[in-house]
Amino acid sequence: MITRRKTKTVSVGSLRLGHRHPVVVQTMTKVFTTDVAACLRQIRKLEKAGCGMVRIAVPTKADTEAFTKIVAKSPMPVVADVHFSAARAIEAIEGGAAKIRLNPGNVKDKKDIRRIIECAKAHMIAIRVGVNEASIRDLKADVPASKRTALMLKELRSYVRLFEKAGFDNLVLSAKSADTTRTIEVNRAIAANFEYPIHIGLTHAGLPEDALIPSSVAIGTLLAEGIGDTIRVSIAGDPVKEITLGRQILNSLGLDFRVGPELIVCPTCGRCQVNVVGLAKKVRKRLEGMTKQVRVAVMGCVVNGPGEAADADIAICAGAGKGYIYKNGKKIAVVDEENLLDVLAEKINNF
Ligand code: SF4
Repeated sequence: MITRRKTKTVSVGSLRLGHRHPVVVQTMTKVFTTDVAACLRQIRKLEKAGCGMVRIAVPTKADTEAFTKIVAKSPMPVVADVHFSAARAIEAIEGGAAKIRLNPGNVKDKKDIRRIIECAKAHMIAIRVGVNEASIRDLKADVPASKRTALMLKELRSYVRLFEKAGFDNLVLSAKSADTTRTIEVNRAIAANFEYPIHIGLTHAGLPEDALIPSSVAIGTLLAEGIGDTIRVSIAGDPVKEITLGRQILNSLGLDFRVGPELIVCPTCGRCQVNVVGLAKKVRKRLEGMTKQVRVAVMGCVVNGPGEAADADIAICAGAGKGYIYKNGKKIAVVDEENLLDVLAEKINNF
């Protein structure tokens, strides 16, 4: 059982971030913001995959105009991703952003930061204050790894002070690095020093096959220690994959409170009687959209399958041309291959 680290609660539109609320999985849209229809299509797919909030880049005035239209139709809170420009930040806040992501190090004039803060206060929205290892002012290439975490924390502390001095504490904090160990270290330090919710994830994590392990290790380690209130698994490509991976990380730690079936599949071995991966993919497709909270197992044989799937609610243990269906460890049906998915769905629905 994971005990979440105590935090302040921060509202992001209809969502609440903090230890009393579920960890939120988020991502960014990856189409041009000015293509409002494409953005909304992507957001709806993300919602279906279990995304809780979505971030959108707003580099130009045309983007903030499109952002306003997207916000009006989005089924989830929308966060504006702002770099360098106070004007874009203010336009996005006035356009309905539930939160903005700001790296104050990228906004040269402190007066501009204060203007953004005043606007966020007036609209009662949250701000994610982010530092990124690559953009830390004092971080020259030759700074040793042992000092980098401290420098990131120092920079973040100076920004938090700036916001608090301006009377703004609706903050979410983040410190991003492409390095797994440093991501873990710096987030532990943030958790020890501040009470604000933390956004965790690696930056520039890579292609899906390269990103999966570093992200799972960094995010999983922190979540297991109770650190992290919203996560983003950064990968190049389809953002739906980021959400799927994020949910899997939460799920593996018992932190996914979304209603729906969980699928476990045996690793396969020489006893396999069927194409388990192919069968599991068909089962997963069949489970899509189901809301019953049930653990389903797909096992490759009837020799060890029933025992190995003992903690599943419903299990299919495959035999040649047949599937043996188990409920809570007891055999309840033997079904021909062609009827297997239909019978499985019926058993899940009646569970
Ligand atoms: S369930 Fe059967 S096929 Fe699958 S790994 Fe276990 S022994 Fe091998």
